[in-house]
Amino acid sequence: MDLHIHSALSPCADDEMTPNNIINMAMLKKLDMIAITDHNAIENVLPAIKASSNKPLVIVPGIEITTQEEAHLLAYFPTYEALDLFYHEIKVYLPERKNRPDIFGQQHIFDANDHLIGEDERLLMNAIQLSFDRLVALIIQYQGAPVPAHVLRDSFSVYSQLGYFPEGLPIKTIELNDKHSMAVSEKIKKELAFFKHIYSSDAHYLADILERVFFIDLIDQSTSNLVSWLSS
Ligand SMILES: [Zn+2]
Ligand SMILES: [Zn+2]
Repeated sequence: MDLHIHSALSPCADDEMTPNNIINMAMLKKLDMIAITDHNAIENVLPAIKASSNKPLVIVPGIEITTQEEAHLLAYFPTYEALDLFYHEIKVYLPERKNRPDIFGQQHIFDANDHLIGEDERLLMNAIQLSFDRLVALIIQYQGAPVPAHVLRDSFSVYSQLGYFPEGLPIKTIELNDKHSMAVSEKIKKELAFFKHIYSSDAHYLADILERVFFIDLIDQSTSNLVSWLSS
């Protein structure tokens, strides 16, 4: 599986990251499950779910949220409806500023056939004005699993933004990827040993989507089983 892939809705992702291109690349790589996790937005998730409906590939409803502290927090939900309800609650906390595509990049919205049907006009690179702790609580409230993203990166991670790993939160799984750039002390190693981890690509280009290198054992390939695994 590869649970951290950006579509062209994320301003920093390549324009070729359409729902069907992502699905076809994931199938070429023989992945079983993927998630499209755009920055502070979800518009290309449902088109991807629809486009994969007759394929042996599960799309896990997800998002990568920028918290008020500018830490990146992944969230995965058992159903698209749960993701949509959650998103409805948090999207009003994205500051009302317009994207400048010439500076930040385009934010393309597609349908299930990869037709470009619009642009998200909000500045998705902004932070959602809710704290890390509050967002974790909201994700749980909507039956989701919170997964701090790229925790060993020296930017946009819990360590880089909060300075420590927050204790006492209902977080069971963290994300690691190849872009580790932080010096890892013994203290950090000890802290992280308490968590399960997923390994993902954080792909912004088709070629970056993972090969078949990361596995977890699930009873079946359902999103609800995956979310239970991530949150227990
Ligand atoms: Zn990130
Ligand atoms: Zn990302």
